[in-house]
Amino acid sequence: MSIFVTKTFLPPKEEYQKYLDQIWESHWLTNNGPILQKLEAELKDFLNYQNFLFVSNGTIAIQLAIKALDLKGEIITTPYSYCATTTSILWENCKPVFADINEHDLNINPDLIEDKITDKTEAIIATHVYGNPCDVDKIEAIAKKYSLKVIYDAAHAFGASLRGKSVLNYGDVSTCSFHATKVFHTIEGGSVMCKDDGLFEKIKLYRSFGHINDDYYTQGINGKNSEFHAAMGLANLPYLSGNIIKRKRISELYDSLLDSNKLIKPETKEADFEYNYAYYPIVLENAEITNQVIDELKAQNIHPRRYFYPSLNRLDYVHSQDICPVSESVVQRVLSLPLYPDLAEEDVKRICQIINKTL
Ligand SMILES: *Cc1c(COP(=O)(O)O)cnc(C)c1O
Repeated sequence: MSIFVTKTFLPPKEEYQKYLDQIWESHWLTNNGPILQKLEAELKDFLNYQNFLFVSNGTIAIQLAIKALDLKGEIITTPYSYCATTTSILWENCKPVFADINEHDLNINPDLIEDKITDKTEAIIATHVYGNPCDVDKIEAIAKKYSLKVIYDAAHAFGASLRGKSVLNYGDVSTCSFHATKVFHTIEGGSVMCKDDGLFEKIKLYRSFGHINDDYYTQGINGKNSEFHAAMGLANLPYLSGNIIKRKRISELYDSLLDSNKLIKPETKEADFEYNYAYYPIVLENAEITNQVIDELKAQNIHPRRYFYPSLNRLDYVHSQDICPVSESVVQRVLSLPLYPDLAEEDVKRICQIINKTL
């Protein structure tokens, strides 16, 4: 059997079926239905944050944030994230300007941001990579000094907390993805959270075509999600903490078995932090060894991912002149190892043996 980097968790079928029965009863399939409202209420509770919107996916979430903040110029962003972070910026007709990342946690290096600020800079969009929080204090201070907006792509961070608050609570706007590959999923789905009430109302309008009433619109988009997706979220949420514990155990097994002298594990320096064990990334010595490890694992039907690759400043459609040596090096050497709640101990042992042997 093949082992992939992740395997989507599914709740017991009856627990999803219960919501399907409700949908067949109500005939309410989408457009802010009762199941979606229930999921939003539960997630508001879970995150302890009221201005929360469930949307169709984590990409539209970023685009809604950029649009609602009326950003038009340059946005300083990280080269080390999923392509959606950069593409959203381009899609909203803004220009991504890349500041390189830290070596230790692979998040945007706040000390490199100020150099990139011009009179066209309007915002910072940074990703909490692997769920590890960005340096939210330094970024907030820079944003204040230059009157910039901060959007966090928190797609990896659901279930992780910093100083007793969800990592999703930081920034002017914080977006998340509930895609099937994430720690908590709704099949497809995402969220937008924002501090400002006016901005929240605006994003809410934009989410459903800008409908103000039946006959009057502002310019919006379709960012809604369905009762079926919300139902998966409601069925999954009770299993989140158990799944995080299982992910933690597997991560600790990797920690104990991998030859740690020959690899680096991205880590946060934050002391008051609780991880969600979303990923198990390792950074190897060079590209050659990394390719060897990939080949050896693939020969055994094990498929790690170069998560992330490429460095986003190097995407050809971005046409960026920015050079980001740390990110451009790390993308050649990083691997996310298989990690999901029911990954067998024997498989972890096998993966570690193959890697240790190759290093
Ligand atoms: C998954 C992901 C996204 C995109 O989310 P979708 O829900 O798939 O649109 C954006 N940014 C990061 C960092 C991601 O990992």
